[in-house]
Amino acid sequence: MENTALILIGVALFLLVIVVGLLSILIYKLFKDKPQAPIAKTDSEYHPAILDRMKDLEKVKIKRIDLFCPNHPEEPGEVTCSICDKIFCKACIKPFKTMHFCKEHLPLIMKHDWEEILTIKTSTTDPDQGVRLYDIKKSIFEKEEIPTYIETHYKINVDQDYIETYLVLFGIKEYTLDLKQKLKEFI
Ligand SMILES: [Zn+2]
Ligand SMILES: [Zn+2]
Repeated sequence: MENTALILIGVALFLLVIVVGLLSILIYKLFKDKPQAPIAKTDSEYHPAILDRMKDLEKVKIKRIDLFCPNHPEEPGEVTCSICDKIFCKACIKPFKTMHFCKEHLPLIMKHDWEEILTIKTSTTDPDQGVRLYDIKKSIFEKEEIPTYIETHYKINVDQDYIETYLVLFGIKEYTLDLKQKLKEFI
């Protein structure tokens, strides 16, 4: 009887030692891990495919900002300025002829003489031509700060009974030669 009690006490003590031991290890680990706050991974630590995905997301973020009026971040942009190609809310843009211009660029239209620099007929054989013209127009404005706008003209071809579409690029008269030089690939 006495022996059984001793064995039980022995076993209980043994279990107690193990439990205390495990608890100490746990507490030690907790404190040891705590100061190691998660360190932001540098780009090189990510898988290249993940890096690509992150870059794509950045682009989407930029596009999202582009969807709002630059003057009113809460207002969705609705109309694009024909000179800067930014999209503005209705309060910030005015119609003029067949186009719209932002408050910054409408005075440019009024103040200067504008001249037809280039006309291209959009064709089904080279549909990218129009896209290229818009890209060049945008880069001339962004990189060299030379304003231009593209107007779309339609002409009904009576004989063959179809509508022809032309893209006409206008520039300020003083820049005519300069612009024609830059648009050589279309002329
Ligand atoms: Zn503008
Ligand atoms: Zn606005």
